[in-house]
Amino acid sequence: MSRPRLALVAHDLKKDDLVEWVARHESKIAKFDIVATGTTGARILARCPALPVHPVKSGPLGGDQQIGAMIAEGKIQGVIFFVDPLTPMPHDVDVKALTRLATLYDIPIALNRATAELMVKGYNP
Ligand code: PGA
Repeated sequence: MSRPRLALVAHDLKKDDLVEWVARHESKIAKFDIVATGTTGARILARCPALPVHPVKSGPLGGDQQIGAMIAEGKIQGVIFFVDPLTPMPHDVDVKALTRLATLYDIPIALNRATAELMVKGYNP
């Protein structure tokens, strides 16, 4: 069976947080195939070059929608999305669509670090 796939996304002001979080949990995250939006994926790869990160487009250019489509197709088993709740964004509707599809398909989704910690602790294959 193929490995579970985890989507990683962070808004600009949360990218440092997510990269640090991924580095701290690298051995566990490495058990997944990783899909990440463009800039987030590049930042993760710069810090953790051994991780199997497959980039999609940057979020504002459709990357969040690509991840949403993968959820609808049953290709994503978890989402960690460090959102910035204080900055207005042009692609806000795309973020909403992604979270709606994760909810609809009952995919675990962490929108902040505290929830991501619970997710990673709860994943024991
Ligand atoms: P990015 O996209 O990783 O390409 O910056 C994330 C987003 O803003 O949705």
